[in-house]
Amino acid sequence: MGMQENLRAQLIKQLPSEVVENVDTTGNLYYACPTCKRPVALSQNNCTSCNQALSWNNVRKDAERSGQKRGRIEFDLPLDFTVGNCRKCPLSYIGRSGEDNVYECPLGSRNACKIKVF
Ligand SMILES: [Zn+2]
Repeated sequence: MGMQENLRAQLIKQLPSEVVENVDTTGNLYYACPTCKRPVALSQNNCTSCNQALSWNNVRKDAERSGQKRGRIEFDLPLDFTVGNCRKCPLSYIGRSGEDNVYECPLGSRNACKIKVF
């Protein structure tokens, strides 16, 4: 491939392209890169093999039709927050448990904190 074609291919890969739904030999559904056809992890922004930018719009529409969607919120955490530390969590609120005040989790995850720190 000449320099010019190479550059062109690189630029094209930066345009998000719809992932392809595939079924493996054991019947499991997986998603593949539309350019190199290798499997990609769900919601990955770029193919790890060929760096093709990936778009998940069709998959998302499918998920909505099947009644399954996932949500994610991002928010700032105090530096001394650790997973499961409701006292430092900005989402928690004070609730009552008998005579005691307790930190309640609005996500209902007081004993199984689902927050991922990054
Ligand atoms: Zn690829």
